[in-house]
Amino acid sequence: MNVTQKPNILITGTPGVGKSTLCKKLAKKTGLVWQDISKIAKDQNCIQEYDEVYETSVLDEDKLLDFLEDEISPGGNIVDYHGCDFFPERWFDVVFVLRADNTNLYDRLIARGYEGKKLEDNIQCEIFQTILEEAQSSYNSEIVHELQNNSEQELHQNIKQIVKWITKWKKDKIQKSE
Ligand code: ADP
Repeated sequence: MNVTQKPNILITGTPGVGKSTLCKKLAKKTGLVWQDISKIAKDQNCIQEYDEVYETSVLDEDKLLDFLEDEISPGGNIVDYHGCDFFPERWFDVVFVLRADNTNLYDRLIARGYEGKKLEDNIQCEIFQTILEEAQSSYNSEIVHELQNNSEQELHQNIKQIVKWITKWKKDKIQKSE
């Protein structure tokens, strides 16, 4: 077995919970590659249409997954997206679902210019823990972890916890290969 193997990590959660902020810092700290799915979908022309009702882009999932497969299969990626049920289950070694309290999320989304239905939908998505349930039903529940991400202090703690998880994952791989 290749002991220099690196894990693939999925960071998911409602828009505004802090995925990009965390992924950017985590990538810098660990050397893993941040795969920002919304950006990749735009850059690689994987947007099928714009949903006027939900004010969101509809992905061409097959095209996106085809593009990503070569990036993901060697390992070493942090994938960041506000959904998780369409990725192949085999891609990820661990899934972290970021969470934020309603008031914090509301302020962050207002600051981002969200309003009306789009704002309401995203707040409800967090209240009903839609993404957490999506993650729990799409992946082995043992690899799904929920992380509160309301403050700088929690962000710091979350990064520490994920780095600790990576260290243990690598150690386990080495032990298994011996
Ligand atoms: P997402 O990628 O999940 O949509 P972002 O990383 O863009 O979220 O963060 C949304 C907003 O919340 C940004 O203004 C960011 O600075 C802020 N933010 C992110 N994480 C935290 C945190 N742990 N504590 C306070 N503010 C945060």
